[in-house]
Amino acid sequence: MISKVFSTEGALAKAIKGFQPRQPQTDMALSVERAIKNGSQLVVEAGTGTGKTYAYLAPALLSGKKTIVSTGSKNLQEQLFHRDLPLMVDTLGFTGRVALLKGRANYLCPERLSRQIIESHDGHADPTLLSQLVKVRSWSSETKTGDLGECADLAEDSPVIPTITSTNDNCLGKECPSYEDCFVVKARKRALDADLVVVNHHLFLADLAIKETGFGELIPEAEVFIFDEAHQIPDIASQYFGQSLSSRQLQELAKDIHIAYRTELRDTKQLEKVAERLSQAASDMRIVLGEPGFRGNWREISNSPTVARELVRLKDALDLAHDVIKLSLGRSNCWTLLLIARPYLKPDWTA
Ligand code: SF4
Repeated sequence: MISKVFSTEGALAKAIKGFQPRQPQTDMALSVERAIKNGSQLVVEAGTGTGKTYAYLAPALLSGKKTIVSTGSKNLQEQLFHRDLPLMVDTLGFTGRVALLKGRANYLCPERLSRQIIESHDGHADPTLLSQLVKVRSWSSETKTGDLGECADLAEDSPVIPTITSTNDNCLGKECPSYEDCFVVKARKRALDADLVVVNHHLFLADLAIKETGFGELIPEAEVFIFDEAHQIPDIASQYFGQSLSSRQLQELAKDIHIAYRTELRDTKQLEKVAERLSQAASDMRIVLGEPGFRGNWREISNSPTVARELVRLKDALDLAHDVIKLSLGRSNCWTLLLIARPYLKPDWTA
């Protein structure tokens, strides 16, 4: 079936003027079809011009299995959903449902819009922001999706956007008076009902991180997951699942310890030493790591003898800080000091 779709006489040749069958494209489509059928994993690396998008869309649509396709960016997501997917749907005569799902920050929150409009009538509101709110309100009665990207009167970086969209923390969920009109709820429902849902890596990974908390996820369960531009995933995933510790944070910690010594704990001379040692160790560590902004594999980097040596010094400085701060617990505001320090004092160096 798949070979036929991509052949000289196939559906794609009939639908696309000038379509030329390419063996690498057909091979990829066959491999994707096999992986979907067997429920196995497949990684495909193919050069520009192979026609990768069609090579995964065709077997996904023909599989009859619920599929999530994730793209590298919001622009590619739009392009796939509005250009490539409709063509493939028509070409294959696909009768199922497809949906586009973005993160909740892209959808108008009617509840927050109403509140914002009420608040802006107190006479202190910025007239430009007020006029944008009025425009969004008028658009909100016409839009079907609530996707603010479709609101022509609103700039992508408008300061109004955070005030009229929701987050996991401020969304009222089922308690919300506007629940019935909620665009996030509608988008999720469309995604739940669809056979193929187009998302992007940021949303996918943020959603995965939320799933771990068991609350508020948007992306439904699926049988098939396809990641376009999958090489971007490690970088994006590190934003949601990684831990970071910067020399600046450590310097701030050293500074806080020093301030505590000078203001409240003059009799704990050791705190001063701890602060100096930590500050020095953080600077040295920073120097051996090289160029600012350098990214790499931590396991490989920490194998370097210089880095490993500085790491031991930094760990010793942090352990000492931990022990000395513990001795000062229960005295004055030292609890605050420990709270400030807690995230840095026992970092996981092996992650
Ligand atoms: S349910 Fe949440 S996102 Fe939806 S309208 Fe209410 S507050 Fe806004």
